[in-house]
Amino acid sequence: MEASSSSAVFPAPAPIPAGVDRADWESFAWQMQNRVRDLAGLERWIEPTPDEARAVGDLARRFRFVITPYYASLMDPLDPDCPIRRQVVPSPLEGEDDAGLADPLDEVLHSPVKNVIRVYPDRIAFCVNNECALYCRFCLRKRMVGETGWSMQKRELEVALDWIAENPEIRDVLLTGGDPLIFSDDRLDWLLTRLRGIPHVELIRLGTRLPVTLPQRVTDTLCRMLERHHPIWVNTHFNHPKEITEAAAEACRRLVAAGIPVGNQSVLMRGINDDPATMKTLCEQLVRIRVRPYYCYQAQLLEGTGHFRVPIERGIEIFSALRGRTSGFAIPRFVLDTPHGKVPLEPSSLVGREGDEVVVRAWNGELWREPNPLD
Ligand code: SF4
Repeated sequence: MEASSSSAVFPAPAPIPAGVDRADWESFAWQMQNRVRDLAGLERWIEPTPDEARAVGDLARRFRFVITPYYASLMDPLDPDCPIRRQVVPSPLEGEDDAGLADPLDEVLHSPVKNVIRVYPDRIAFCVNNECALYCRFCLRKRMVGETGWSMQKRELEVALDWIAENPEIRDVLLTGGDPLIFSDDRLDWLLTRLRGIPHVELIRLGTRLPVTLPQRVTDTLCRMLERHHPIWVNTHFNHPKEITEAAAEACRRLVAAGIPVGNQSVLMRGINDDPATMKTLCEQLVRIRVRPYYCYQAQLLEGTGHFRVPIERGIEIFSALRGRTSGFAIPRFVLDTPHGKVPLEPSSLVGREGDEVVVRAWNGELWREPNPLD
């Protein structure tokens, strides 16, 4: 069998709990059935601080509190600043932030039919369900994930498929949610078959965090099924190097071995990945497991997430610090998502024009004059 990464050293999760069979641990169904959903469940993995314990009680109603056992095993039991823990354990800071919006990208306004979001002429995001393996405290779609009103019945999926079929300019469909890999293989196969039956749909992308939060979902059977619907692309969502475990690397290896290009979209978050060293390690570890760092998003002005936000200027500094210091394709594009689409956030390297020369600034600050007549 092909190795996922010959010399990589992965962070070690907590051991499988006593009394749990390895076969159960490796099973998607077991992981889903045994998710952490309350304080007692959380206490099996960590020693919650009084603030965390209070927030679980106070805030779980506002946004669902669910963690897979696998992801819980990555948390530091004693460190409340653990970057894994902060992504999924409620914080009282969520309740103190009332400046954020429920739908900062106006996705509802951009929906021609339920759960189809159209910002660009040729592409859509199709939120095929509203379920995730776990619920990230910073989630952009808090308004819908885990909320029953946003679930998609089969007839609603049919309405969306009909809309795509009636709009021949749609060539690229991103299946997102929630998480499309929460679907059974059969349901996902049905959906992909229906999409492949629409002649103008050239490209199907899956946006999924399951390689990170529940890598046991990425089975060989799933990958064989996905292979039948190529071209399929996957974008996943690692935020911190601690998430790149052997199990996550194996999930990505299976996808790549099935001919699926895998990219990563992270979110820049205070105390999680907002320093050049952490971001560099994350990006380099991703490349080692053959996942291309694609986008890093500026965190949105979203309800209950103000404590994660970092000034845009700081983000630009972080990604500028990576330039020239690691492989170019290991550096994701830092972007701000807006109701009008993604806007790249980067310092301009163009200094100006001097006669027939254009002056640019290189990664190390040196200026270069490139002969470049206007005509
Ligand atoms: S996996 Fe994605 S959609 Fe689901 S809660 Fe996390 S950020 Fe939101």
